[in-house]
Amino acid sequence: MKKETTLGDLSDVGEEVDSVFISDPDGLHGSQESKSVDGQSHPKLGSAQLVISGRGKKMTRIDELGDDHAQTSKETPLRKDAFAISPEEKVSQIECRFREIMEILGLDLSDDSLSGTPKRVAKMYVHETFGGLLPENKPAVSLFDNAYEYNEMLVEKDVEVYSTCEHHFVPIIGRAHVAYFSSGQVIGLSKINRIVQYYSKRPQVQERLNVQIVEELQKALNAKDVACVIEAKHLCVNSRGVRDTKSSTVTAIYRGKFHDHNIKSEFLKHISIDVDFNL
Ligand SMILES: [Zn+2]
Repeated sequence: MKKETTLGDLSDVGEEVDSVFISDPDGLHGSQESKSVDGQSHPKLGSAQLVISGRGKKMTRIDELGDDHAQTSKETPLRKDAFAISPEEKVSQIECRFREIMEILGLDLSDDSLSGTPKRVAKMYVHETFGGLLPENKPAVSLFDNAYEYNEMLVEKDVEVYSTCEHHFVPIIGRAHVAYFSSGQVIGLSKINRIVQYYSKRPQVQERLNVQIVEELQKALNAKDVACVIEAKHLCVNSRGVRDTKSSTVTAIYRGKFHDHNIKSEFLKHISIDVDFNL
């Protein structure tokens, strides 16, 4: 049975939450007045993109949300034809479009300093910043027997998170702390970092990133006892908009045994220990 939560109830994101969606107080979701933002037909667009009208003034849902961060699904929203063209073709098409954006901004692309930027950005988008959209980049995970019979909690902490806010396309920078109990098998420690990196290299919202990391680890480890806490700075909040440079966002997902108060406390104690070895 799916439980749904509305915006404003995001602290509840956790094991029980299967989807997060924007409530539709105006009741216009799916009504005949609704059409997509640009007036064109986008059958795959969700309610976040519907046009709503009120008090004689048309206002898009996007206008209404402003800087608020919409939530739709725990899967990254991908088009059906997401992989119809090769990564290299994507680089070439993004290069053209990014050149247009720069030109619209009034920049002179014949300047030596700018001429290579469209290609540089396109390659960075496809192969680095959003490389986690390509299924071929998903880390292969091998399982090993739990030969040491280590049955306590294993914590991999301070895993670097370098992601991108999908609402503003600016960086999300932080740390993930991951823990699990072996169900008989283990994975190489670096695979945890690679799973975090893979899902980070996508346009993201932190709650979804957290869910994707936990569910991938549950699958990879064939284990249900997995937890992940992410603390991150969102540059859309820190560097623009409200420009609150101090604030950061913490999300936490606990599955299986981690719901137990003592186990959760032990995990949180482990991740609060400062282990900066200055290596
Ligand atoms: Zn943002």
